[in-house]
Amino acid sequence: MALRVFNVLKREKVDFVPITPGKINMYVCGPTVYDNSHLGHAKTYLSFDMVVRYLRYRGNDVLYVQNLTDVGHLLDTGEDRILKKARQASALPMQVVETYARSYFEDMDALGVTRPDISPRASGHIPEQIAMVETLIHKGHAYVADDGVYFDVGSYPEYGKLSNRRVEEGEAGSRALKGKGKRSAEDFALWILATEEHILQWDSPWGRGYPGWHIECSAMAGKYLGATFDLHGGGIDNIFPHNECEIAQSEAANDAPFANYWLLVGSLTVDGQKMSKSLGNFVTLKDALKRHRPEVIRYFIYQSHYSNPIDYSDGALEAAGSGWERMMTAVRFARDKLRHPVAGVSPDAASIFLPVLEDYKAKFIEAMDDDFNAPNAIAILQSLTTEVNKLLNSAQPVGVEVLKAINDHYLELGGKVLGIVPEAESTSGADAARLEGVVRMLIEMRAQARKEKQFARADQIRDQLKDLGIVLEDRADGTFFRVE
Ligand SMILES: [Zn+2]
Repeated sequence: MALRVFNVLKREKVDFVPITPGKINMYVCGPTVYDNSHLGHAKTYLSFDMVVRYLRYRGNDVLYVQNLTDVGHLLDTGEDRILKKARQASALPMQVVETYARSYFEDMDALGVTRPDISPRASGHIPEQIAMVETLIHKGHAYVADDGVYFDVGSYPEYGKLSNRRVEEGEAGSRALKGKGKRSAEDFALWILATEEHILQWDSPWGRGYPGWHIECSAMAGKYLGATFDLHGGGIDNIFPHNECEIAQSEAANDAPFANYWLLVGSLTVDGQKMSKSLGNFVTLKDALKRHRPEVIRYFIYQSHYSNPIDYSDGALEAAGSGWERMMTAVRFARDKLRHPVAGVSPDAASIFLPVLEDYKAKFIEAMDDDFNAPNAIAILQSLTTEVNKLLNSAQPVGVEVLKAINDHYLELGGKVLGIVPEAESTSGADAARLEGVVRMLIEMRAQARKEKQFARADQIRDQLKDLGIVLEDRADGTFFRVE
């Protein structure tokens, strides 16, 4: 079966056909780097990580571009988010940008998110944005006003085709802040003339200023992926005005379709309300990662379809943790048995179980081909877990070939595609601290047993730990342990 996706632009599920077979050009709207990322951001970027991983797993050559917004993303008050933060922190705007760009990648790396191939920054593409605005003026799609340059929405009749909207809510009231020179409420800024105190400003044919937020994505997508490319992604909340404006600018400037497929990710909510900085209902990724394994955060996000919202609570993440632990029992079981292989295995087990594994793999691919249905893919891994546990708990000895195949299947589907099965169990962060505490406790119990001359008991503790891959070493300065 071919990959099918829900294309927001067409409002229907369709076959995904790239412009060049086997080559996929993809653009995702990235974060505005003015603060630490929270779980809401993780929902968007983990979703596209799953998309990229799966497309590559299926043999496609994917060029993945995701921008970093470091200028022009204004608050409703008309203030630039980055300048506001810079003022609060008494820092230069580019210090703020650098700090939070690093923080973003640090969090994404910790979550196992594949880095985009190109992470272009708006401030690094000012000439490209100016050139695009010039083209739009030249083609009669933009006009120069006293305070900047605006896109003339009336000149582009298809405006609204992605979101079914044309005017921002409350536009009439905030119009004064969003551009005095606009001819129509629908129009939006391409270039904004800067006042003296606005630190981020560049020369342009229309005077010193800075680009409007939307133009950066059009200019950078065009530069790296061409006028028309395969897939555009982002969070559903940016569908209007941001994504709508991107389409208008690009198609009007290039006289060509922009992205063929639009995939938009549902929001992460808290008690039904979107998790956001402004509502204060957010959990930063740094805090979440202190309390949960990255695989569990991924498992939680992938439990709902990328296009749906997901409601966050401590309980929901804990439930995801239990589901993940259940799946991992089979992986750990297989790995444990691989460390202690049994001789004299009947060849039947392989001939019966290897086709079962292949069958689950086929079902997994079928689920993912159906608009990246990760929740179904996870359910299939859970059914596989039931089968594996049954096999490994049975009296029948299982040979190395089958054990290896089980581990490989989990690593391929759960690991490579979804990033929820680690290659080896990491003992970093909270888990490591917990493990160390438990091992130290056992070391003390063993020392106590030896003091009481219960040597058999002491040896039993050492041997059982060794079976779990934890080796104790007695040295002159105490007992130490290492994890094998
Ligand atoms: Zn964008």
